[in-house]
Amino acid sequence: MKTIETIHELRTALKSRRQGTIGFVPTMGYLHQGHLSLVERAKQECDTVVMSIFVNPLQFGPGEDLDRYPRDLKRDQALAEAAGVDFLFHPSVSEMYPTEPLTQVHVEKVTERLCGASRPGHFAGVATVVTKLFHIVAPDRAYFGMKDAQQVAVIEQMVHDLHFPVTIVPCPTVREPDGLALSSRNVYLSPEEREQALVINRTLREVEQKWTQGHFTSADELAQFVRERIQTAPLADIDYAEVLTYPRLEKPSAAWKEQRLIVAVAVRFGKTRLIDNVLLDGRGEKSCSEQ
Ligand code: AMP
Repeated sequence: MKTIETIHELRTALKSRRQGTIGFVPTMGYLHQGHLSLVERAKQECDTVVMSIFVNPLQFGPGEDLDRYPRDLKRDQALAEAAGVDFLFHPSVSEMYPTEPLTQVHVEKVTERLCGASRPGHFAGVATVVTKLFHIVAPDRAYFGMKDAQQVAVIEQMVHDLHFPVTIVPCPTVREPDGLALSSRNVYLSPEEREQALVINRTLREVEQKWTQGHFTSADELAQFVRERIQTAPLADIDYAEVLTYPRLEKPSAAWKEQRLIVAVAVRFGKTRLIDNVLLDGRGEKSCSEQ
């Protein structure tokens, strides 16, 4: 595996690989099995795998965790190499933003709710950096985790609207054996917060089961159930718990049971904000992207 820090060097290195397919896994590093599952999928489907590690300042708001976001390049290099990454792109902030950027990519509507509402500017930062990375790497396929389901919806919309010649591959959420979704931010949790955070996955699994059994009479009732269950954990501070259509992320209609739905939550435990979701399809079965 080669670690590359400049755009020019990466473009040059990829030139000789373009007769085969290039798979791309963008990350912010501090790698875990969730990231590595994306690499594994990319390895199965592509000749060359590029991973980026870049903590993108543009997608962090004031007062968010940009400065304390966990970083460990040596450890990440070892994990990425063992997983079979061919090129690890690790640019500096000044390499990616040599001057103040005056151009940003704004995706409308799908960014209005959920994390888009509680983190203003976040998805413009994401869409902008992913656009830049797509222009630099020019991948055939790019791999994203469904833990960040709204991010997948935003990127798919952007790729569609702007005719990016790339296939977006959504991949299932990888969890700890006890159900907690893997996240680089899990290291912030105290043992007590970590224990109580299990309420998120427990609630989503219960919802899935109850929904399959036709337990809920409306999307509002379902969302209320989620809020009540999560609030049973004393340290849980709910940012949002919503039921929306997926991928448009709109309020479900009266025929909500026929729609593909997402139950999405963001919950703070102390200073740590965790997100998770489950997709429910119109027939009371688990959606294919969650299998
Ligand atoms: P991040 O480093 O948090 O920006 O994540 C980089 C990529 O890994 C994104 O596409 C995430 O959705 C994905 N990812 C993060 N956590 C998980 C997980 N637990 N399972 C699957 N994919 C994940």
